[in-house]
Amino acid sequence: MGYSGNTSANASPPSVLSPTSSSSPPSSPPPPPVVLSPCAACKILRRRCVDKCVLAPYFPPTDPLKFTIAHRVFGASNIIKMLQELPEEQRADAVNSMVYEANARLRDPVYGCAGAICHLQKQINELQAELAKAQAEIMNMQCQNSNLFELICKQMSAKNEDENLQPFRDNPAFLLDESVLGVAWEPLWA
Ligand SMILES: [Zn+2]
Repeated sequence: MGYSGNTSANASPPSVLSPTSSSSPPSSPPPPPVVLSPCAACKILRRRCVDKCVLAPYFPPTDPLKFTIAHRVFGASNIIKMLQELPEEQRADAVNSMVYEANARLRDPVYGCAGAICHLQKQINELQAELAKAQAEIMNMQCQNSNLFELICKQMSAKNEDENLQPFRDNPAFLLDESVLGVAWEPLWA
């Protein structure tokens, strides 16, 4: 009402309104899942899906395989018992975990999830060994690098000394020439 006439404050009202208009309402707890009835569990178990069915929020009729897999490994009564023992905010995670474990168990009947964990553990060990090797190589290269640097520094300082001595070092050749000339001229003057 006051905003419509106020053109100078155009930028601020939308920023106040935008959280509710552009994105979903900032309600802190996640919205409760849309529960379709009958749920996949009750459909497969051929029972009536009651209003407060404990399985319905996690086993929608659109994904019957999810319940079939969990049911085959854990059994419906165990799933229900586990969910009833948990607070509601942990139930979705528990169902995800059960479905994951059941999938792993069907894929690998002997080791199940433990097989996947072992495989990943092995991969971690291999990668850690590779990392240690790479780090050792880096250390080695850094060592070589500093050795080389030291050598270059020594050579450069030696060369500098050489250059300082150059006039004196060139002279002997000149002196030798003179002496040779002297020797060569000597018989002529004698
Ligand atoms: Zn149900």
